[in-house]
Amino acid sequence: MTGKRKRILTGDRPTGKLHLGHYVGTLNNRVKLQHEYDTFILIADIQALTTHYDRPGMIRQAVRDVTLDYLAVGIDPNVATICVQSLIPEIAELTVLYGLITNMNKLRHNPTTKAEAQQLGLIQGEDLMTGFDQLTYGFFGYPISQAADITFVNADLVPVGRDQMPHIELCRDIVKKFNGIFGTSIKEPEGLVGEAFLHALDGSAKMSKSLNNAIFLADEPAQIKAQVMKAVTDPARIHPTDPGTPEICNVYKYHQVFSKEIVEETAKKCRAGTIGCVACKKVLVKHLESLLTPFRELRKEFESKPDEVDEILIEGTKRARREGKKTLEHIRERMGTDYFGQKTSELLPVP
Ligand code: SF4
Repeated sequence: MTGKRKRILTGDRPTGKLHLGHYVGTLNNRVKLQHEYDTFILIADIQALTTHYDRPGMIRQAVRDVTLDYLAVGIDPNVATICVQSLIPEIAELTVLYGLITNMNKLRHNPTTKAEAQQLGLIQGEDLMTGFDQLTYGFFGYPISQAADITFVNADLVPVGRDQMPHIELCRDIVKKFNGIFGTSIKEPEGLVGEAFLHALDGSAKMSKSLNNAIFLADEPAQIKAQVMKAVTDPARIHPTDPGTPEICNVYKYHQVFSKEIVEETAKKCRAGTIGCVACKKVLVKHLESLLTPFRELRKEFESKPDEVDEILIEGTKRARREGKKTLEHIRERMGTDYFGQKTSELLPVP
């Protein structure tokens, strides 16, 4: 499974079921990448707890849901390694070690953390320091934990959206400094920019359950239809015969992704006023259903076999720990914290 293939680390914060935005943004790509790269998919439950520490029950359910969504879209556990962050103590250990050498200003000026803190209403304006009464140590320092997530398996590449690049840059800085101080040879991972972005059908950038604007991969046909039918279209179109401007329509943007074979024809009909928005939405519903029905069916199949799903996570997590153990042994040896030679590892048993 490993061979000489380059290694990828990717994953999700489990805060609920995955939706179409995740599929277009990353999942679709991962299904292809798993055959090309040695792929580790980390279910980052500790990352999720940095912002949802008061809802561990929700995270517990989401770990299961996210796993089912992976399997439903075609992540093959015989090819890719799916693992759970909190069950990998090597990540926690590496987080502590990276924390030793990371300058506070690096964290304070990380634009991605700032943007997230703003979205969560934790800071006023731009400066993370304005939120020190609200920000937790875990949230402020989560780029360090993310650097540990990426490097505990010595990943070469991390597939990311452009907005995540500052985290990768910080990760590379941390690793470079760490290697420089301790003489380790941890890889400086590179970002594989290529993840796409899909707006919600109401035009919002964020798709979520609380905004009731997401189409989840597990949704039934009636739920898919309900979301599409309430989508915001060209507001200038009052009657089905009014000429429209597809470029400003959310439904059209979805046609560009999910109904590629009819997208030009749809644009022509819209401009000419020969198709109404209701009919146009119904076509999109049909296309979405043909994409999502096989996912939903496969998801249900896995859902009916919880022991098999447990086994997938257990085996994946064991493999990830074995890789993490190699990385930490190397670090201990270079840092000189392998105080009892090989016996040091006996104090830290891993499967
Ligand atoms: S006809 Fe289709 S593309 Fe044109 S505005 Fe209506 S929903 Fe959008």
